[in-house]
Amino acid sequence: MIKGKLYINGQWIESCSGKERDILNPFDASTIAMVAEGNRDDTKAAIKAARHAFDQGGWPQTPASERAKLLFKLADFIERDREEMARLESLDTGKTVEESRWDMDDIAGIFRYFAGLADKDGGEVIASPNPDSTSTVIREPVGVCGQVSPWNYPLLQASWKMAPALAAGCTIVMKPSEITPLTTLKVTELAEEAGFPAGVINTVLGPGPEVGAELAESDDVDLISFTGGIATGKTIMRAATGNVKKVALELGGKNPNIIFDDANFDLAVDYALNGVFFHAGQICSAGARVMVQSGIHDRFVEALRQRMERIVVGNGFDEKTQMGPLISAAHLAKVKNYIEIAKNEGAKLLLGGTRPTDPALQKGYFCMPTLFSECANDMRIVQEEVFGPVITIERFDTEEEAIERANDTIYGLSAGFWTSNVDRIERVSKALRFGTVWVNDFNVYFVQAPWGGYKQSGLGRELGKIGLEEYTEVKHIYRNY
Ligand code: NAD
Repeated sequence: MIKGKLYINGQWIESCSGKERDILNPFDASTIAMVAEGNRDDTKAAIKAARHAFDQGGWPQTPASERAKLLFKLADFIERDREEMARLESLDTGKTVEESRWDMDDIAGIFRYFAGLADKDGGEVIASPNPDSTSTVIREPVGVCGQVSPWNYPLLQASWKMAPALAAGCTIVMKPSEITPLTTLKVTELAEEAGFPAGVINTVLGPGPEVGAELAESDDVDLISFTGGIATGKTIMRAATGNVKKVALELGGKNPNIIFDDANFDLAVDYALNGVFFHAGQICSAGARVMVQSGIHDRFVEALRQRMERIVVGNGFDEKTQMGPLISAAHLAKVKNYIEIAKNEGAKLLLGGTRPTDPALQKGYFCMPTLFSECANDMRIVQEEVFGPVITIERFDTEEEAIERANDTIYGLSAGFWTSNVDRIERVSKALRFGTVWVNDFNVYFVQAPWGGYKQSGLGRELGKIGLEEYTEVKHIYRNY
């Protein structure tokens, strides 16, 4: 049995709540770990440690190249322990080990990318109205950062925050999702081994409304970075007003994948699947809303149905498995409820909507790949984030109609479309109101490219150069000689 503690000011400690939480394996609901359940007092202690490390501990003054060395070391350790960490992530989330291995490779790359950027920005000299003066613009670390992450990509999402914050010279208090803390604990251990000074990195486990809320409310936190649902994001934004801290939000998505008649048919079918069935559809950029032009609609839907029927559902540790369980009993109930809503709204169920029949899968939180056709723009199943292995199909006739409908949503995280018409590529990619638009592809991420949402899908950007800048303040220094 894995035991997990809190990491505050360079010490592994029990929570002052005295409580522990069982961490469950979504495959069979068995207990895989017992971890300390932190509370507001633990969080206050972690913030104090991060504050001290920032204000007196010398972390922001440490040369960027030295901070980078530690980040490179951490990346090496992640690579060294890749298999163990991938298996831990799969145990905690149910996703296939192969997917978790990709995550670990990405994560090592993310630490290396931000390590490489850490010492590259030397500031800028700008024109000054006074010839006897010099004006420079420099970037300085924001300060103490609270970092709250979700359960779907636990360490990947945490690394998007952790790596740039540390590279910029900030100190951090990480709060992983209470149901998937294991790889965040592991990366904290590796950071300790790499030699990050006490107080620079703190990890507090525990419930969002206690640990996360304290981070959002505290006057000693300078920035709160959050990835999760829209409702929680709004709560955090309100809580952050006390000291007008910076707020970075990566929220939900309902992402259209538009297939025009002139698309490469086979590739579009492949990617309509790839767009959704990673981690059983529990991905913020899942292309769960597939829109198909009339000329190919029936053939496309049938091809998709046949491919979905063949998805191998099972234990993420079995190399043949293509899709594992959902994260929890509560989440399974939510997805099943959406399936009922869709049926009542008049969507046509073509596949799935049930649990698997295999006796070996009965204890886990499984939902079979589910396909609805004849969906309309105003249905809840089309407008709301289901976060499960469910695809809805909408039929459309014209390009204008596709754009108008795709944009008719509160979300703006990502969208994709498929066409061989070069003029259309230009028109549609500019007309779609989303933070990322994929053309003839779907769900392509890489650390150099900024990620974030338009509209209610978020505030600010992660990854890329801008992902580092989010953790900096801009200072203008005017020198009159
Ligand atoms: P969630 O909002 O329920 O929880 C996310 C985190 O917030 C958890 O750590 C939770 O403990 C914490 N939290 C809960 N209440 C809080 C409060 N009052 N104050 C502070 N923190 C609080 O989200 P989830 O169910 O863990 O994750 C799924 C959601 O995350 C989906 O909507 C998904 O789209 C989104 N997501 C977005 C991205 C992105 O890049 N935009 C990436 C991954 C997931």
